[in-house]
Amino acid sequence: MASEKEAALAAAPSDSPTIFDKIINKQIPANVVYEDEQVLAFRDISPQAPTHILIIPKLRDGLIGISTAEGRHCEILGRLLYTAKLVAKQEGLKDGFRIVINDGPNGCQSVYHLHIHLLGGRQMNWPPG
Ligand code: AMP
Repeated sequence: MASEKEAALAAAPSDSPTIFDKIINKQIPANVVYEDEQVLAFRDISPQAPTHILIIPKLRDGLIGISTAEGRHCEILGRLLYTAKLVAKQEGLKDGFRIVINDGPNGCQSVYHLHIHLLGGRQMNWPPG
């Protein structure tokens, strides 16, 4: 399998359907840890920490990444962040965690449907790679 960086460099920003649409539509399985009418959270298939969860809007509505956010997205963006906090608590990440949004090729984004990475369960390092 290609490295995350290779996958990101091979992916081009696009509003075509992504693998996440198939997860939202239950066409492929995912390990879902949280779901409501607007948000879905599921375990990353290639975890980079003991806890690695992706939090996504069910309706992409132009949010192929954070760089395409517009004013109308403020409510869903807040909801996604708040869900990250809820899921972190649900996962028992009491000593802290990290939230990441990769954007575009330089940010190593490989799936063009906005998602928040929630990472925890180990000591993180800084600066990130
Ligand atoms: P990014 O590189 O920020 O675009 O993150 C995309 C993430 O989606 C990567 O961490 C992948 O491991 C993850 N991913 C890709 N396909 C799946 C899948 N079918 N189920 C769960 N996670 C996935």
